[in-house]
Amino acid sequence: MDREEQMYLRLVSAIVSKSLRPGEHVNEMQLASANDLSRPRVRRVLERLEMEGVIEFKLNRGAFISRPSVKEALDVFEARVHLESILFRLACERTNKLDIQRLREHIQSEREAFQKDQSDFNQIAGRFHILVAEIIDNKIILDAIKLLIHRVCLIQSLYETERTVLCLVDEHELLVDLIEARDIEACMVQLVHHCDHIKDSLDLSDQRHRISNIYQAIDDRR
Ligand SMILES: [Zn+2]
Repeated sequence: MDREEQMYLRLVSAIVSKSLRPGEHVNEMQLASANDLSRPRVRRVLERLEMEGVIEFKLNRGAFISRPSVKEALDVFEARVHLESILFRLACERTNKLDIQRLREHIQSEREAFQKDQSDFNQIAGRFHILVAEIIDNKIILDAIKLLIHRVCLIQSLYETERTVLCLVDEHELLVDLIEARDIEACMVQLVHHCDHIKDSLDLSDQRHRISNIYQAIDDRR
């Protein structure tokens, strides 16, 4: 793997694990020296992340981790539930015994991560959805799912409250049971419940929207 790809993966992992928070400045010079890359190569990685919606450039100020608006957050959840419906429908049709075993092994690692160190849990739980996309073997859907999961993590960072829940391991297990049973209808119901229940635990209220707009306005005038 080349150093640009490594730096890209490190940044994504920092966003997913919330060590880089929405609105945080990304120092290009430090990244260049830490990853032994030239500034133009660092810029290329950051531009890739900008296209993926997780980094934004501000005039004369450099790169920042994106702060998705409430509208954007709702758009991401809407897109996610539709795309994942296609994904899980295909999973019900295509998975074999070996795939089910891979999914169950992953769920076991989720349980262990949840019990041990919850800071890794978000990343591992998000990986469940990416694994289902790898199993159905469609690169277009896989790439789209990866982007959506990264953006969901940013949205969680920004809008979480003390009652915010992450992917629940028991719900993942039920999804795998339904994939194994090839029960498309029940799988769709469970998937919508799974996606909605994460969205509903965030504070995407109008009041929060106004507050975040106020911060946005101050931020942009600097
Ligand atoms: Zn999940």
